[in-house]
Amino acid sequence: MRGSHHHHHTTGEDDESECVINYVEKAVNKLTLQMPYQLFIGGEFVDAEGSKTYNTINPTDGSVICQVSLAQVSDVDKAVAAAKEAFENGLWGKINARDRGRLLYRLADVMEQHQEELATIEALDAGAVYTLALKTHVGMSIQTFRYFAGWCDKIQGATIPINQARPNRNLTLTKKEPVGVCGIVIPWNYPLMMLSWKTAACLAAGNTVVIKPAQVTPLTALKFAELTLKAGIPKGVVNILPGSGSLVGQRLSDHPDVRKIGFTGSTEVGKHIMKSCALSNVKKVSLQLGGKSPLIIFADCDLNKAVQMGMSSVFFNKGENCIAAGRLFVEESIHNQFVQKVVEEVEKMKIGNPLERDTNHGPQNHEAHLRKLVEYCQRGVKEGATLVCGGNQVPRPGFFFQPTVFTDVEDHMYIAKEESFGPIMIISRFADGDVDAVLSRANATEFGLASGVFTRDINKALYVSDKLQAGTVFINTYNKTDVAAPFGGFKQSGFGKDLGEAALNEYLRIKTVTFEY
Ligand code: NAD
Repeated sequence: MRGSHHHHHTTGEDDESECVINYVEKAVNKLTLQMPYQLFIGGEFVDAEGSKTYNTINPTDGSVICQVSLAQVSDVDKAVAAAKEAFENGLWGKINARDRGRLLYRLADVMEQHQEELATIEALDAGAVYTLALKTHVGMSIQTFRYFAGWCDKIQGATIPINQARPNRNLTLTKKEPVGVCGIVIPWNYPLMMLSWKTAACLAAGNTVVIKPAQVTPLTALKFAELTLKAGIPKGVVNILPGSGSLVGQRLSDHPDVRKIGFTGSTEVGKHIMKSCALSNVKKVSLQLGGKSPLIIFADCDLNKAVQMGMSSVFFNKGENCIAAGRLFVEESIHNQFVQKVVEEVEKMKIGNPLERDTNHGPQNHEAHLRKLVEYCQRGVKEGATLVCGGNQVPRPGFFFQPTVFTDVEDHMYIAKEESFGPIMIISRFADGDVDAVLSRANATEFGLASGVFTRDINKALYVSDKLQAGTVFINTYNKTDVAAPFGGFKQSGFGKDLGEAALNEYLRIKTVTFEY
């Protein structure tokens, strides 16, 4: 039942092997989208074992976008074999690092040529607001590939003096090597960007990869697969398998030929993956997990800026943002004023079709997530927090949730402790001047992904940034991530950085070579 809107195309002239790509075509957003919908293994788009498929849904209206191949365990084994072959015998291991960099620069350029298409697909499949998708989901993905392309020929070891006693007849040097086949497992909130953060570092380090997108958001990953062919990335270097976590993600974590898993997702699944990585073959693993990031707003801040950034800290990307401020602590003397200004801003938000240019709040990613948010808010009300606005589904088709504000949230409440991953602002107050008390409340969580502070007092800002137990501290700003700045959590928000030079090392191993002469 594939429908009549499927088309066959071949890749560019420069590809001698004439790879056939099946597309779903869709005219939308003044573009004709061509969306690959099959598994990508060894440079080819292929059906899953047993031709298994599933529907991917448009959250704006609940309609089926298309059927996508659903990878099975045997498909994982094929993809890992292709990645292993490409790593051990293919071109990828033979070309020099500078040429590898050129290919990744080219990939970034090809992604840029297709940025409107990619952003439109992200709007269709993930409900990402188009204007944001163009700038962030897709824009930062392009920047990430460019940034890591530049690292390819700058991966250096050290020379280390050993046995210092004279006469010195020893020399030790270190080399940084790729680890081999990597598995990358990602969530649905920024489908292309999460893929890019990990894949760019992984490829720059010289590895090959099997990527499992979230099952609900496979389409930008498959478009990306096509773009790797256009850019001339050798076959087998990148393999992409839409499928379930329990089959595909699990098999990758268990696979004896996979040497590293890069994971972004929930803490619960992250723990499970770490265990599988240990028990199978002691794979390297890095985990970007959940968060409940505190944002502390002191009375001496620039209030309008704090309101503006406070809004963004919660409502950016419909709250489907790993570093979203999960809890705002507002100093007593400005609390009411802050809440009033925030509610005014919430009322100005434009909820609508993510493809419309003035929309700034689109549908939640998928239906189950919407249901979770409804229950989350019911729980907050039941526990006695004050629901100032929102709290429910928007009465229209699709999976829209009202931007929501809770006040009088106490530390013991569920909504004070658990991540919503939705557009829900959780506000608590703290006594005027009690910096240490608010810090200890902010740190009383097992999460440690991000945090923020608003104050004009530089001493207070630095003191607080010192004390906050989180991988990222924003001062008088929020959500300001950059490809060059390492990103990752403390405590049960995981370990191993994405972005920056630090991310490269997550995909490298150090070899120590010692001479005696
Ligand atoms: P999830 O943990 O349910 O799923 C993440 C990925 O893991 C998906 O691709 C899923 O299919 C896969 N998976 C599920 N079970 C698996 C298993 N047994 N073995 C291997 N893979 C498996 O998370 P989600 O619902 O997709 O995303 C939401 C969560 O992700 C939130 O908790 C959020 O905080 C977190 N997140 C964190 C960051 C970060 O950078 N720290 C970024 C985005 C999202």
